[in-house]
Amino acid sequence: MDKILRIDMGADGGPAIKTEPVGDYAGSGGRGLTSAIVSKEVPPLCHPLGADNKLVIAPGLLSGSTAAMSGRLSVGCKSPLTGGIKEANAGGQPSQMLGRLGYAAIVLEGQPKDNTLYKVFINKDGVDIQEANDLCMLGNYDLVDKMKAEYGEKISCISIGQAGEMKLAGASVACTDMELRPTRHAGRGGVGAVMGSKGVKVIVIDDAGMKMRQAQDPDAFKEANKAWVAGLKKHPVSGEGLPAYGTNVLTNVINEAGAYPTNNFSKGQFDGAGNISGETQAETEEARGGKGAATHGCHRGCIIRCSGTYYDKDGNYVTKQPEYETVWAHGGNCGIDDLDAIAQLDRLDDDFGLDTIEMGATIGVAMEAGLAEFGDAEAAIKLVKEVGEGTPLGRILGSGAAVTGKVFGVERVPVVKGQSMPAYDPRAVMGIGVTYATTTMGADHTAGYAVGSNIMGVGGKTDPLSPEGQIELSRNLQIATAVVDSTGMCLFVAFPVLDQPETFQALLDLVNTFYGLSLTADDVTELGKSILKNEREFNQAAGFTSKHDRLPDYFKKEKLAPHGVTFAVKDEELDEVFNW
Ligand code: SF4
Repeated sequence: MDKILRIDMGADGGPAIKTEPVGDYAGSGGRGLTSAIVSKEVPPLCHPLGADNKLVIAPGLLSGSTAAMSGRLSVGCKSPLTGGIKEANAGGQPSQMLGRLGYAAIVLEGQPKDNTLYKVFINKDGVDIQEANDLCMLGNYDLVDKMKAEYGEKISCISIGQAGEMKLAGASVACTDMELRPTRHAGRGGVGAVMGSKGVKVIVIDDAGMKMRQAQDPDAFKEANKAWVAGLKKHPVSGEGLPAYGTNVLTNVINEAGAYPTNNFSKGQFDGAGNISGETQAETEEARGGKGAATHGCHRGCIIRCSGTYYDKDGNYVTKQPEYETVWAHGGNCGIDDLDAIAQLDRLDDDFGLDTIEMGATIGVAMEAGLAEFGDAEAAIKLVKEVGEGTPLGRILGSGAAVTGKVFGVERVPVVKGQSMPAYDPRAVMGIGVTYATTTMGADHTAGYAVGSNIMGVGGKTDPLSPEGQIELSRNLQIATAVVDSTGMCLFVAFPVLDQPETFQALLDLVNTFYGLSLTADDVTELGKSILKNEREFNQAAGFTSKHDRLPDYFKKEKLAPHGVTFAVKDEELDEVFNW
């Protein structure tokens, strides 16, 4: 991965392709690289949908190698949803393939002079870009079928659906999985809208003829990978819980903890949780049979395999197994306890190219506004279809919960920096509340997953209902996550990495033996801090102050049932998160 592909979409005479050495960005990957390029090259005050913004797509440092779990792809830009820096990452096949083709990043820059839509094809022989107006307003599923027919079955795709073309702030970037379905999304922050603003509908990748990336010290790398895999298999979360039930194993856990945001964050427990839990989902999938119903990986080299396939009552494919966040967003948050309806909503989101968290939170706000009743699954499906059709109401909803709340005069809008909160109420999991409030990304559970410690006791136990210890916890997790997001590793490795020192060491050994380095734990901490520093400086230059590192007021005033708690971490304490 020694080169960067730049495509200037606004060049005279049509898009101009340039491949250049990685240069000053050497040693960065994934989020570290997207955030470095965005903070160095994008004017913080630019319009996110304008020519000065850039969309940076970067495999992780270990992507394309045989390191287990190393297939996450980072997508970065200035976010049209938050107005700040953004990195969203996704599984699927593209990261491994881009790594093997030698690309550290693809940078889409400039802006087409008209509404022409383009497709990009990358293989071992180089890069080709063609006009593709015939793909206009296709959903991701039909689009990928067309690409399959044109380029064969061994490709992977990075694409946008209708939402990205309409430049809606809830739009995602889709990546295809091992079955060549567009089910893995860099969902958050409207990265799909930025891809749409560049006029790129799809990037097709074919790595035929390329080999696995080779480590500097292949034998030591192999040994490190063995220890890494053993550590992942040994831990109860990555070795048992996630493979058996997928991420939706969390529904019962978080509901029992009284932290499951229900009916637009109005209470912490959902009566219908049992109907949509991971256990029920697994039983349903198994009973409906169908090939591939068992949990499986979203990219080659995943050994946790938290994913699966969801079939309808007649055994027809609907979507990949909806993840916990999606089941919550379209389920409990909207009072819906019907797995089939949730699967349909997930399919629609994937096809239109929408962030499931943003859409579920938005429908929750719309329900609070009276556009539909909580629990009305048909109405929720209708509202999401409006987004894909681009009706005026659909465009409001597709712009996210904050915009929807403003348009319909709703006070209870669960966002930070304009981005919707995920599936943990910050009043009953205060550590995640600190992360929501302070991360550079807007409300984002993956930026510092304090739920692990607060609820599951991973990496030490902290009381979820007390402010005690939450600042330090979130700070350390945010630093560690910035590093994990740079390696290309799926974030679920964090459970064994935090709990088992030998698994943390194995990860360090993987990076060191691959690159011929001798990084220590302290070096890793410094790397995480430097990534966060870059991101914070970008946000400050874009106009963010400490006043933006806050939860909405009602979390401090409205008590959450069943614990009767409010968010009790003080503002002055929040301001200490980045004082290391
Ligand atoms: S654990 Fe799940 S999300 Fe992570 S790489 Fe595997 S299938 Fe994808």
